[in-house]
Amino acid sequence: MTKKQKRARDFYTFEDLRNRTRLARDVDPPIRLGVFGDPVAHSLSPQIQNAALKHHKIDMHYAAFHISPDELRDALKLVRELDFVGVNLTTPHKIAALDYLDDVDPAAGKIGAVNVIATRDEKLIGFNTDALAFSRAVRDEFAVDLRDLRVMLLGAGGAARAIAMQCALENCERLVLANRTFDKAKELAGRLSEFFTGPKVLGPMPRLQAIPWDEAAFRSQIANTDLIVNATPLGLNRSDPPPLPARLLSPHLLIYDTVYAGGQAPFVAAAVEAGARAAGGLSMLVHQAALSFQIWFERDAPIDAMRAALP
Ligand code: NAP
Repeated sequence: MTKKQKRARDFYTFEDLRNRTRLARDVDPPIRLGVFGDPVAHSLSPQIQNAALKHHKIDMHYAAFHISPDELRDALKLVRELDFVGVNLTTPHKIAALDYLDDVDPAAGKIGAVNVIATRDEKLIGFNTDALAFSRAVRDEFAVDLRDLRVMLLGAGGAARAIAMQCALENCERLVLANRTFDKAKELAGRLSEFFTGPKVLGPMPRLQAIPWDEAAFRSQIANTDLIVNATPLGLNRSDPPPLPARLLSPHLLIYDTVYAGGQAPFVAAAVEAGARAAGGLSMLVHQAALSFQIWFERDAPIDAMRAALP
């Protein structure tokens, strides 16, 4: 096999990143971008970003790296040393990475999570493209704006922080935060309270509320909810339970599942079965990828080519 024919593996490890000669030998053009996650094997980011790089004839490769939480700090040091253009971060690194960056874009700082890192003048700068990508995905999928919706958000991790902030910035009707670790939902609600002081909502329900992760609490919200968003990893594995019991789903709901798995995610399938309108996370993935590309290369992303790269 000639050097030009060398193809990247499905994913690399921290050891590969540390062994720069192995990494350099493995693929041509060289890896200068990637996504760090745990798990990461499911990620479609390499397909999307490599399509964009090819479209613009940029001689670089984007690869997936399985990086565990205890490897993140050193992995990010290597990003700087290996002359990477940048990386994306996925679960569970979006919040923890804030401690290892040289600078953070103010919007990402307010969200409290980064999913894009760019290296500029040997410094690591953090950004967040999940927030805007979520808003664009909801508009694409359902032709509605967040400001018109009563949203129930499942999760309080890195993705949920971005989605919650976007809902707040767009002045959604109401926002209900549910998380397995209740304290994190309460903390997130506390950080957003300044956005929800206006008298916008119809009826007696509070505009901003944290609820515990249990069926009775979910049930009490359904009639006053338009959009349910899954921002937990539940659904990544086929054996996962649905984030919300399927018996609670009803036809008036819109469901956005940020998880994208091979084929239709189980939560999306259950929602469609219940007569609701539902979409999986591919639309958000493409928008966050396009916005990431724009940050790295300061030029428009070829979003049609990126979409066409999806399976
Ligand atoms: P994260 O920071 O690790 O947060 C994970 C969240 O899910 C936490 O709130 C956690 O609750 C909750 N969770 C984890 N396992 C759970 C379980 N078994 N039952 C109930 N709740 C559980 O991860 P993240 O970066 O926010 O990403 C979350 C998911 O969003 C990813 O897996 C990915 O599928 C999806 N995502 C998709 C896109 C896209 O473009 N489509 C973009 C971003 C994220 P605790 O606080 O209790 O731990």
